[in-house]
Amino acid sequence: MYKIAYKKIVHPIFTVPITFAFFISLSILLAPLSSQASPSKNLTDHLSATNVILFIGDGMDEHQITMARNYLYGPKGLFAMEQMPIRSSVKVQTLREDNSKQFRHIADSANTASTLATGVLTSKGRIATTALTNHALPTILEDAQRAGYRTGIVTTASLTDATPAAFASHSPHRDCESPEDMEARHPFIPATQQCTHNQKKRGGQGSIVEQLINNNVDVLLGGGKKYFKQSAAKKTFIEQAQNKGYTPLQTLTDIQGTPNHSKLLGLFAKKHLPTEWIGENHHRAEKIKTDTNGNAIYPKPFSCTTNTRFKNIPTLSQMTDKALQTLSHNNTKGFFLMVEGASIDKQAHKRNPCGQIGELRAFDESISKGREFASKFSNTLVIVTADHGQAGQIVPLPESYELVSNAVTAPQYPTGYYAVLKTLSGELMAVSYATNSSPQGLWEMHTGTNVPAFMEGPGLKNIPITINQRYINSLMRQHLKLEPVK
Ligand SMILES: [Zn+2]
Repeated sequence: MYKIAYKKIVHPIFTVPITFAFFISLSILLAPLSSQASPSKNLTDHLSATNVILFIGDGMDEHQITMARNYLYGPKGLFAMEQMPIRSSVKVQTLREDNSKQFRHIADSANTASTLATGVLTSKGRIATTALTNHALPTILEDAQRAGYRTGIVTTASLTDATPAAFASHSPHRDCESPEDMEARHPFIPATQQCTHNQKKRGGQGSIVEQLINNNVDVLLGGGKKYFKQSAAKKTFIEQAQNKGYTPLQTLTDIQGTPNHSKLLGLFAKKHLPTEWIGENHHRAEKIKTDTNGNAIYPKPFSCTTNTRFKNIPTLSQMTDKALQTLSHNNTKGFFLMVEGASIDKQAHKRNPCGQIGELRAFDESISKGREFASKFSNTLVIVTADHGQAGQIVPLPESYELVSNAVTAPQYPTGYYAVLKTLSGELMAVSYATNSSPQGLWEMHTGTNVPAFMEGPGLKNIPITINQRYINSLMRQHLKLEPVK
């Protein structure tokens, strides 16, 4: 059973821990009397700063959550996110680039993160720009920054990847990550979304990496060194960031040794961070083979294990903790922080259930950090959601297929890529990936299901049970007292 680090009594409407609410009210009442004797007034201001922490589990639909929960804690367990007091089901909406009056029913991380960031629907691949017309859409991070809040982005992906990019840059396509990417024409990108449209020399905003540096986000922690090592005007983007006051970080040791008042640029991998977990002997799901009679030969069950490549790299939870400490340090106004668990999605594409489960576990640990912070800083809104669905499904064990095979005397088995996992409690759980089972099937595709939203914080009343991603943007804007999206 999963345990969070603190215990609190939560009323369904007043989501502030009762003991803390009492403490804060008492501090406010007593502040004028005690201000000369102690710095409690400052402390109270500090504690009542207005904060938003948005957690995005990339590709984290209900099926991916259930798979990870079953593996880690069994069906009786709960993740920290599942212990938050409010939850809704979120519709994922995606426009067509060639006809923005019509919807597509499968999204990608670019258009969905853009909607969470801007409150406006757009088409696949777009980074905070409108479908077809390519207008830059102001993001909540940019608006929060203009209103005086500190801002931060934490991710296990490259910082230039679609989800982080959509909060602090504008681009016709997610693949316009660096100046080099802007030069090439990409055969698989629609004509209206070619990176060349956004080149600086053509009056555009430039690549994603350039915009991230120029946007002055206070905390940037993730991967993507290979993009930041590129240069413009004879200076690498890391050097340009240093000139703007950023402290560059490359390892867990760096993060631990850096004071909390610094502007941070953490680049902990060439591109995406390695996963915390892998399958035993690197096992992933595989295609089911058959014998000469057509009977299925199932892959052997396996467990998950830690990834030895994950060394001197901060975990998502450690990055989240550093971001929270840095953003809240001597800050009476507040902050907006986006934390992404990126590789739940990336490992589902690779049919790697252990990669997914380990990343979901890491993501949930970072949510515990966020909730712990919110229990002390009561004017903090915490929202956990996903951008779109993924391919992993829990399916019957071989014995169930064999039973039917025997009854109908014809081999029955699942298509797609299949794995049998030995869960931590020793039970077996079968998972399948079947959105691209072609013989040369490179990777799995996204699916079009709703995703969950878990919420906690002040002012959350009458939240509908079914919402959309624009609604999440409006909740965050409301909490930060920013102008609503027209
Ligand atoms: Zn994906």
